Amino acid sequence: MAISEYAPGSQIVADGNLITSQYIKKVPNMDWRRYDYIVCECKTLNIEPHIEYKNEMHLKTCRACGMELDKGRMGTFLVPEFGFEASTNIEKAGLIKPRRTFNGEVSYIGYRDDIQHIHFQSGNREYEIAFSQNDEMAVLNRSNFYVCNVCGYTHLSKMGFQMIYPKQHYKSSGYLCENENLQKYALGYRFDTDVIQIRFLWPQITIYEQALSILYGIMKGTCAYLNIEENDIAGCLRYFYNKATKTGSYTIVLYDKTPGGAGHVKKLNHPDVFEAVLKETRDIIGRCTCGGESMDAACYNCLKSYNNQKYHDVLQRRYVIEFLNDFFDDNLGKAETFENISIRSPLSLIDNHTSTVNEDFESEFNILLTNYGAQISDSQRFVGLMKDFLFAYPKQLNLLIALYRMDITKSIEDAAVLNDIFAYRFEKRMDEEMGISKENAKWAVATWCFSYGGNILGKPCELEQVKEI
Ligand SMILES: [Zn+2]
Ligand SMILES: [Zn+2]
Ligand SMILES: [Zn+2]
Repeated sequence: MAISEYAPGSQIVADGNLITSQYIKKVPNMDWRRYDYIVCECKTLNIEPHIEYKNEMHLKTCRACGMELDKGRMGTFLVPEFGFEASTNIEKAGLIKPRRTFNGEVSYIGYRDDIQHIHFQSGNREYEIAFSQNDEMAVLNRSNFYVCNVCGYTHLSKMGFQMIYPKQHYKSSGYLCENENLQKYALGYRFDTDVIQIRFLWPQITIYEQALSILYGIMKGTCAYLNIEENDIAGCLRYFYNKATKTGSYTIVLYDKTPGGAGHVKKLNHPDVFEAVLKETRDIIGRCTCGGESMDAACYNCLKSYNNQKYHDVLQRRYVIEFLNDFFDDNLGKAETFENISIRSPLSLIDNHTSTVNEDFESEFNILLTNYGAQISDSQRFVGLMKDFLFAYPKQLNLLIALYRMDITKSIEDAAVLNDIFAYRFEKRMDEEMGISKENAKWAVATWCFSYGGNILGKPCELEQVKEI
């Protein structure tokens, strides 16, 4: 079913005529199936069969993150299972492109608990793969469709504030319809197919824009590696709670577009194949030149496609390259990452030796900045330098790289004075986006401020020195 191509409001050209879809077809004595839905803040689509009189328990909490759902965001979608009908107005097709309602969004809605997550760990990387057959997906076109429950007449509106839209209209038979109140719906359907879910435990994916870029990068890499058409598979994101780092993260979900599954994504259910796909991804996205050295762009040669138009503004090549460089960085893997250290032995955080480790680290960091500070805006090169110089301190290194990627250096350059207000912004982001503890965040921000802001740029730095982390 192609909801976006044929839904009311969209147009197709047939025999030189421009035909506008106008009705959602009804069959006598059969109602459309309807579902109520709420998209949680974590972006998970929660659905339950539609009920007319809502009770407390209806769509109460999010299935993925457990948060209470905001009932104010509830909508209803109907399944146009009998198809669509054209308007009786038929125009000659001119040079104008047929209009389409925007693309449907795909969500994973399966919540079986019998799916096995297989765990892999190697070098700096740790992740889980789960493959499931006949798992459940949903496609939703959330345009504002005002539908007549009697005849299926549909008015597509740009605005969707009201639930009811009064409009006198004709049935497809040509008779005036007795109902004048159109009701607001989204259009959607559910289907079963083969699904693969990948949870990156480390490095992790915590920012939505980053997750989208990585998703579309991996889809590109999968098609190239498996030598399949870009339309054979599709993907979406899903929230999960990363217990290892105590952070909300995104699962990458890929599925076969052929209902029932065509055996494509199943092939990724093996770490050798999956990592080969990621290497292919890094090659393809790395080969592109859009966005120049900062790679803060995307184009049709790398991440953009017709199907992800809605997200074109946020896609950036650098998210994919940075993530995969960390993922495959075996230098970082020689020692433990800071998150692992703090989880496995919380006592190491108050270890007396850490203060000298930090002092050693800080002096090495200052040597790096003194010698290579001029290259600080070249992100790929500078992150490489940091890893080369500071690989013996993986915990500290990871913290400083995280801040570097939040553009802390640019903010330091722009700031008149480096004080608590300045630091707070970054400490908060480290906490919210990465689940980094307050102490660790404080130390890392202060280190950037003193070393780069104070020593290199000569800015006044009013922060407290943090000795221990
Ligand atoms: Zn949620
Ligand atoms: Zn009607
Ligand atoms: Zn590109």
